[in-house]
Amino acid sequence: MKLVLLGAPGSGKGTQAEKLSALLGIPTISTGAIIREHINGKTELGLKAAGYIAEGQLVPDELIIDIVINRLNQDDCKDGYILDGFPRTIPQAEAAERLGLNIDKVLDIFVPDEAIVDRLSGRRECRICRTPFHTIYNAPSIPGVCDKCGGELIRRADDEPETIKKRLAVYHAETEPLEDFYRERGILTVVEGRKKIEDTTRDVREALGL
Ligand code: AMP
Repeated sequence: MKLVLLGAPGSGKGTQAEKLSALLGIPTISTGAIIREHINGKTELGLKAAGYIAEGQLVPDELIIDIVINRLNQDDCKDGYILDGFPRTIPQAEAAERLGLNIDKVLDIFVPDEAIVDRLSGRRECRICRTPFHTIYNAPSIPGVCDKCGGELIRRADDEPETIKKRLAVYHAETEPLEDFYRERGILTVVEGRKKIEDTTRDVREALGL
């Protein structure tokens, strides 16, 4: 299964990707997470990308496409993968087709903008294993501590309210057109993402026939 997750920042892509990865035994490739690792490691790519992320802008397509090619060439991707955060522009989707990624399904998790700011301001992630949490909707057993590995939970720098608004504007302008792109190819499925996590997971499984 080669699956793409679409949806605004904070729609729950990362959370549902984690569930689907466990269910299907295939990895989730999150371009955002890979870039954040580069930024933390101060690599050349990280230094190039940092300014765009801090501004809530997209990282240039060439950089992203290289990241994806390198990651998908790794052995654990041979039986399939879940793409969380790629493609995010029409040129990226066209590049994916040229590269022969042969996406089976595209799952679009729909959450209206009003709900997004509330969601992202409570979002946290583990500094070590990157598991996503939310202070209210997906709270860890001990506040500030990862249930999985005991790591410290942190707030992403681009989850500040001003940056969130910019990211939403970029989403509508650059990424939303992908809905029609994939609808035309007959592989788009939309699910409502405002329910409780487990209810959305049930809808996602139903939509994907899993
Ligand atoms: P995410 O973790 O998916 O919300 O991504 C965080 C940030 O990384 C985004 O706001 C973009 O600046 C950058 N990014 C991640 N994936 C892509 C992509 N496919 N194309 C361009 N920029 C991306």
